[in-house]
Amino acid sequence: MPLAFDMDGVLANFNRAALVAHGAEDLWEKDERRGPECWDTPKLLGITPSEFWEPLKDANFWSSLDRYKDGMSMFMYAYMNYDEYIYILTAPYPCAGCYAGKFMWFDKWLRGSLKYGQLVMTSDKYMFATDDSILVDDNSTNCRLWKEAGGHAFLVGRPWNERHFAEDINLPLFRDFMEEKQREFETKRSRQG
Ligand SMILES: [Mg+2]
Repeated sequence: MPLAFDMDGVLANFNRAALVAHGAEDLWEKDERRGPECWDTPKLLGITPSEFWEPLKDANFWSSLDRYKDGMSMFMYAYMNYDEYIYILTAPYPCAGCYAGKFMWFDKWLRGSLKYGQLVMTSDKYMFATDDSILVDDNSTNCRLWKEAGGHAFLVGRPWNERHFAEDINLPLFRDFMEEKQREFETKRSRQG
C-alpha cells in the first residue's frame, strides 16, 4: 500500500506564510471565505498570480514554513502503521528557491523518517498512482486525477476545499479511512488467492 503525502497544505503551512508575506493573515478566518471557491488565493487577495508569487521565491520562505500539527500526525500514523512505501509528492513553483527550500524543509522535518529519494517534486502526481496506492492531499483536483488513474485518495480538510467543515477532525477521519482501505485491500488479495 504505497502512500503519497502532499507537502503544502497537508504537512507544511504554505498558505499561512504566503498570507503573512502579503499582510493578509486573517483571510481564512471569515466564515464566508471557505470552500472550494476559495482555492484561488491570488484572486481572493485581488492580485495577479505573478504578484502573488513574487515575494515567495526565496528558499528561506519554503524552508521555514510551519508544520501542520494534524498533517504531521497523519504522516506519523501512516509511518508507524503502514511504513513500507511513503513518498512525499509535492508540486514546486518553478524557481530554484522553491526547489531548494522544499529540499531543506524535507531535510529538517522528514529526513528522520524518510530517505532523500522519497521526496518527489512533480505537478503530475497522478502519474504515480497504482491500484493499491493512496494519495493524501488538500487539492481536490489532485485527488480526482489520482482516483481516475486507479488509485485511492484522502482529501485533507482545509478552509479552501470541500472538506473545510472537517478541518478539526482530519486525523480520526484519516485513521478510519486507512483502516477501511487496509480491509478493502486484504479482501481483494484474499479473493485473488
Ligand atoms: Mg497541497
